[in-house]
This record gives sequence, C-alpha cells and structure tokens, in this order.
Amino acid sequence: MKAVVLKAINELELAEVERPEPGPGFSLIRVLACGICGTDRHIYKGEYPSSKPVILGHEFGGVIEEVGPSSKFKVGQLVSIDPNIVCGKCPDCLAKRTAFCPELTALGVNINGGIAEYVLTPDSQIYPVAAGLNPLHLAFIEPLACSIRGMDLAALKGGERVAILGGGVIGLLVVQLAKLAGASEIVLVTRQKFRRDVALKIGATRVVDPKNEDVSQVVTGMDVTFECAGAVDTFKQSQVITRRGGCVIVLGLTAADTNLEINPFSIVVNELRIQGSFLNPLTQSRAAELVSSGKLNLDILISKVVDLDGVQAVLDTPPAEGDIKYIVCP
Ligand SMILES: [Zn+2]
Ligand SMILES: [Zn+2]
Repeated sequence: MKAVVLKAINELELAEVERPEPGPGFSLIRVLACGICGTDRHIYKGEYPSSKPVILGHEFGGVIEEVGPSSKFKVGQLVSIDPNIVCGKCPDCLAKRTAFCPELTALGVNINGGIAEYVLTPDSQIYPVAAGLNPLHLAFIEPLACSIRGMDLAALKGGERVAILGGGVIGLLVVQLAKLAGASEIVLVTRQKFRRDVALKIGATRVVDPKNEDVSQVVTGMDVTFECAGAVDTFKQSQVITRRGGCVIVLGLTAADTNLEINPFSIVVNELRIQGSFLNPLTQSRAAELVSSGKLNLDILISKVVDLDGVQAVLDTPPAEGDIKYIVCP
C-alpha cells in the first residue's frame, strides 16, 4: 500500500509499505479522508515530538476493510477513528482524564496514521458514523471532538455572550457549537476576511478584524472567550475582553517554550478562570454523532482536497490566505 512516511524532520516519502493484517482486537481501515492540521506541520518541522519513521495523519476515517477474529465491527462499515490511545487502567484514565494518561500514544504521531491507503487500528479507537455520510466529513470528527472538550469545560447553558479568537477550523467549529448551545452573542475575531465571511454564514452574530479595530474596545464583557489562535496577543486579549467572573477556554496551541507575563492581581479581583482544553477525552463518540446528524456546516470549511502525491506540497507551503481545511483522500 501507499503511505506518506515521515522519515526524519523535514523529510517525507511517499512510500510503498506492507499492508498490515488485523490480529485480535484490531481492524484494517481503508482511509477515505484524513485532515491535515497545524500539528502535522509542527511534527513535520520537528516542533512537536513524534516517532520516526511514522505514517502521518491523525484526523481520519474510512471504511472497515478487514476485521480481526470475533470483531464487533463489520466489513464495509463507515467509521471515524479516535487517534489517541490510552491505557484505560491508570488513575487518570479511571477518573476520565484520559488526555493525561502517561501511556498515551497517537496514531499519526507515534504509531502509523491515516495519510495512507490503509491503517491498522485498535478496535477501541473506532466510532461508527452514519452510513450515508460524506466521507470528507470524517476528517472533521477529531478536531470537533477537541472542540467539544472545550465546550464541556465552558459549560454554556444558553444565552451567554461568547467570543472566539481565531478563525481556523477549531474557531469555526466552536462558532457552530456555540450557536447550537444557544449563545446569544457569538463574536469571531480573525484577521482573514474570508474566514470572517464564513463565520457570519455559520452562526457568528458579529465579526471583528483585529487589524482595523481595537479588540479590547469593541469586544467587552464576554461570559466565555475561546482562545483558538494559539498566539500571545490573543491570549492576552482574551483576559481583557472576558467579564469579571467569566471564563477563558484556551484551545490554541502556542510553541511549548512560549512564556508571557500575567497579572495575578487582575485574576483575583476579576475571579477570572483561565482553563486549558487538551485533546478529546471521551468526546469522540459525540463528535461522530454530531457530524452524522448533519447539523454542522462542514463543506464551507473545506479549502482543498489532495491525494497522497499532494501531501508534500501542502506541508511544504504555509496555508494560503483564507484557506481553512486541507483534506487528503488516499
Ligand atoms: Zn489535528
Ligand atoms: Zn491511562
């Protein structure tokens, strides 16, 4: 089978590799769609730890091609995959904090992933989706599961004023989730006009261009702010625009060595909660069901679809202005 293998930092190869055989507890997935995200770019450049050689791709789904002995799955089933594999037995797993499992490994990071014709997948990671689902939508289930984690931590009850900083895939999924959760105001802040226009079509009640407007002046008193840009400026802004007693959910990933000054006094007197949101602990099945329901507008987020030959060029070039999601169809 063909696969995109990361051999070393900045070194990819479209290789012919042996097609795996599923043993007990495993299935072989024929990949129909795999998203490429910022994490893949970081892994490629050596800015995020990974095994090498490894087949990249952690946002994928497809059709079950072969099952192991006495599998509960059927050949031909359309499924999404949770790439994050945990032990299920440690104190963190037992307390449902699976993102902190010390044995966490991930398909497409430490184990061969979805930018390939086939992937050997533990059955524990497989989540069936609606049979008629557009296969491209499979690429959104993992990032949606991460966004749902952020929503869980925000615990919206309806009627809140919500700001979202950053108009990438996560930001635009959070826009739609906030709408479904009944937020009364949904403000999206992003520099890219195309993304602002998309946001208005999928649920944002207002958009702000931070190049032309002072965000801290025009966005104020937010009940919940989602930081989805992973930048120092937006992290600082999020604390200014959130109301006293409000909550900042940090989904955006900065470089691991980024530091900045914070003001403990203002955190105390404003009772500000700054809450990180990491991975997709126990949210993948809800993400699979929500995507299956058709309640999200995902087509509008797809910027480019490439085959395995096109992956190198995508990873060698920064995303074009306004582009949102690139998907590989092996
Ligand atoms: Zn990703
Ligand atoms: Zn564990």
